Amino acid sequence: MNFYDLNRHGEIGANSIYLQIGPFNILVDAGLHPKKMGYDALPDFEPIEDVDLDLIILTHCHLDHLGALPVVSAHNPTTPVITTAPNEMLAPRMLRNSINVMKRQRQEHGISEYPLFLHRDVAQLSKQITVQRFERGEIYLKGKEQIEVILHPAGHVAGAAAVELVYKHRRIVFSGDVLFDAQRTLPGAHLPQGPVDTLFLETTRGAKGRESGRSRSTEVDRLIDKVGQILDRDGSCLIPVFALGRMQELFKIIYEARNFGRLPNSPIYAAGLGMDICNYFDKIRRRTQLIDFDASILEKMKVKPPEPKMRPGRDLAKKGIYLVSSGMMVEYTPSYNVAASLLPHSSNGICFVGYCDPDTPGGQLLQSKDEESYFFNALDYNAPIRASIDRFDLSGHADREELVEYAQTTDARAIVLTHGDQSAREWFKNELSKRMNHSVVLDPETLVCHKI
Ligand SMILES: [Zn+2]
Ligand SMILES: [Zn+2]
Repeated sequence: MNFYDLNRHGEIGANSIYLQIGPFNILVDAGLHPKKMGYDALPDFEPIEDVDLDLIILTHCHLDHLGALPVVSAHNPTTPVITTAPNEMLAPRMLRNSINVMKRQRQEHGISEYPLFLHRDVAQLSKQITVQRFERGEIYLKGKEQIEVILHPAGHVAGAAAVELVYKHRRIVFSGDVLFDAQRTLPGAHLPQGPVDTLFLETTRGAKGRESGRSRSTEVDRLIDKVGQILDRDGSCLIPVFALGRMQELFKIIYEARNFGRLPNSPIYAAGLGMDICNYFDKIRRRTQLIDFDASILEKMKVKPPEPKMRPGRDLAKKGIYLVSSGMMVEYTPSYNVAASLLPHSSNGICFVGYCDPDTPGGQLLQSKDEESYFFNALDYNAPIRASIDRFDLSGHADREELVEYAQTTDARAIVLTHGDQSAREWFKNELSKRMNHSVVLDPETLVCHKI
C-alpha cells in the first residue's frame, strides 16, 4: 500500500489522505485548514491531479475534514462519496455556510480566489454521496479486484465515523476524530478491534494528559457550578461554542441542569448556524436514532437571538447565558463581540469548553487572563479584564492515554500519526514506539509517497 498525506501544513490542518491499495485509488477526507486563507487553506491535491479516484470517504462534517471536498468531487464527478446518513444531511448545510463565509471574506480581506467552490459544486457532491450504515461492510469492485469498506461509530460529533478498509485480508483503519466517552447527545466510539495491519491515528491531545481526578462528568459538574455562580451574582455568562456538535451538547447540559434545579431559568441567547444545526440534529434523531437531541428543548428554554447592537466595553443590556460561536472566539464572530462587551465587568464570566488554538483570540485571552487587559484587535478596543475566565475540559477528542491503549489492542504493524501539532505527534511517537516495539510508527512527511 502507498499513501500520501496531502495536509501540506501538518498540524490539525487540512486533513486529507490519498491511498493506493492494489488497483484502488482512495481519498479519505478533504478539509480546509482553519487558520489559513485562500488556496493555502486547501490540501495540496497535486498527487491526485491526474488520478481518477475510485472511492472518496468522508469521516465527519467539521470543516477541517469536509471543507475542500466539493473541489475534489468536481474533478471526480462519478466517484462515490461514502459516508454516514447524518453526514449526508449535515455536509451540504456546512458547505453552504462555508461558501457564504468565503464570500464575506473575499470582500473583507480581498481574497480573490474565494469562494473556492460554488453552490452547484455542493449540489454535485450531494448526488455522489453513498450512505453506509455503521458496522455493515460494503464491497466495491474494480475489474476482478475488490475492497470492503466498513464505517464504525467514532463518537466525537454526530455522524462521525472511523473507517476500516479490508483488501486481501489486510485491514487498514482510520480512527478519524474520536471520542470514547459518551456525550449527552451521542454515544461514544466503538472502534474496530485488532489485529489491524495499518492504523491511521488522530493525535489531537498528545501534548497534554488529562489532569488527574478530572473526568468528563466532573468537568460538566464544574461548568454547571460556575455558570450558576455567574448568574447568582447577576452577571452574564459567555460560552463560546462550535456550531456543529458543541452548541447542541451544551443546550442539553443546560436543559438537564435546569430540570434538576441546578441552574436558574435565566434567559439564554443563541444564534447563527448552530441554531439551524439543532433542527438538523432533530431530523437526524427522527430518521436514524443515531443521536439524542430533541430541538423542542430550545422552545422550552425560550432561547432567543442576542440583541444586535453591542458596543465594546458597554455591558450587555440583557443578562443571561450567551451560547454563541465561534468556539475559539475568532474575530468578527458573535462570541468575539459578546466577549468585548462583557469582559470589563466583574459580575460576568467566560467559560471555554473546547480546544482553543493558542493563535486564536480565545487562546490568547486564556493566556492573558491574569493580566490587566486584553486587546480586541478587530475592534481596536483595549478591554480591562474584570470578568472571570475559566476553562473546562469537554473536548470532543479522546485522551492520549485512551488512544495509545486502543492502538495497543490493534497490534498494528504500522501506525501513521495524523491530526495533531508537532508536540502532540512527538508524544505519540515516543510512547507508541516504547509500548509497541514491533510496530513502525510514522509521523509522515507531507506530499511524499510512503510505502508501507
Ligand atoms: Zn472533528
Ligand atoms: Zn478534525
